[in-house]
Amino acid sequence: MKIGILGGGQLGRMLLQAGANYIMETWVLENDEHCPAAHLCHHFVKGDITDFDTVYQFGKGLDAITIEIESVNVDALEKLESEGVKVYPKPSAIRIIKNKVTQKAFYRSHEIPTPDFVITENAADLARQVHFLPAVHKIGQGGYDGKGVQVLENSHDLSKGFDAPSVLEKKVDIKKEIALIVAMSDTGEIVIYPPAEMVVDPLLNLLDYQLSPAILPEKTAWKAEAIAIKLVQALKSPGLFAIELFIDQQDEVWVNETAPRVHNSGHHTIEANYSSQYDMLLRIILGYPLGNPDPILPSAIVNIIGAEGHTGAAVYNGLAEVLQMDNVFVHLYGKTLTKPGRKMGHVTILHKDYQDLTFKANRIKHLLKVTS
Ligand code: ADP
Repeated sequence: MKIGILGGGQLGRMLLQAGANYIMETWVLENDEHCPAAHLCHHFVKGDITDFDTVYQFGKGLDAITIEIESVNVDALEKLESEGVKVYPKPSAIRIIKNKVTQKAFYRSHEIPTPDFVITENAADLARQVHFLPAVHKIGQGGYDGKGVQVLENSHDLSKGFDAPSVLEKKVDIKKEIALIVAMSDTGEIVIYPPAEMVVDPLLNLLDYQLSPAILPEKTAWKAEAIAIKLVQALKSPGLFAIELFIDQQDEVWVNETAPRVHNSGHHTIEANYSSQYDMLLRIILGYPLGNPDPILPSAIVNIIGAEGHTGAAVYNGLAEVLQMDNVFVHLYGKTLTKPGRKMGHVTILHKDYQDLTFKANRIKHLLKVTS
């Protein structure tokens, strides 16, 4: 099969790594020819994933297309789909998710639990919603890694809000943040990975450290799984989806957001689960039976993030020490330039004992620094 990926970042890179186990010919569309996925595909095409003609021309001769980022030209994907190219997930699902305004409206109309919200069109509109605070303002399109999200505690914070169509969502008193990966085949068969739980760095607002399977009361885990499955069924699309959820202080479960693709919360599945999220998506695209999402062992992920105050050619300090640790798997994404907060790689740790995972995760965070 001829398979194309829109976007050439680390997610595309890891998808291609898994793809090397199967018989397929791969294409990547991405503007940056030095991107992490560029040298792992058979055919690299330099171009803009948001441009209609570029995406359409890229996809025309292919059997199937998938995405590693949702800011793609959905109109072109719809045209390709109508001409017989298989698109994972369906463009209709990408369109719903791509904009946080339509994504939240979708949850509401399908009775999927999500924090209460109002839509604000611009700054003046936001100012009229001061009674809705404390809340979290989220820009409809173009936000990522916390950059399109502002916590508004009271009227003094209104100036931090977005002057563009956005979601104003009630602030949740979060006990835990978890993510669940769900995969659905062309025939509607579904598998679900155990939830992962994360701790967010309040300074960078990037995923800091993650454990999987999450430590949750059985009832809470069941609730989260039921919500995630309902959500994917409502999207009516084969593919792989990562659903981020909040557990509040009362153990209620709320959907934060969904990614219609392989996701950073599933990196550990490469070593920690029988079938990784990447392998699972490829099985769906290739029409193979779904894999086994069960964990082999509990795991932790530590992201390798560009250090503050360093911009330039990347230097990986402490790598030798980390590589000497048992059951530790290092993934560097091959980005030549580092800058503060940039995702440069990740480390997965496997162990049956959560104390060992936490200990090693902290040690790796302390040892491994990306400087310039
Ligand atoms: P992004 O798409 O940039 O990852 P998210 O919508 O996931 O943005 O928000 C980033 C973080 O902000 C979340 O992981 C969570 O910690 C916090 N957050 C988002 N929405 C809420 C909310 N309604 N209440 C409390 N905290 C929130």
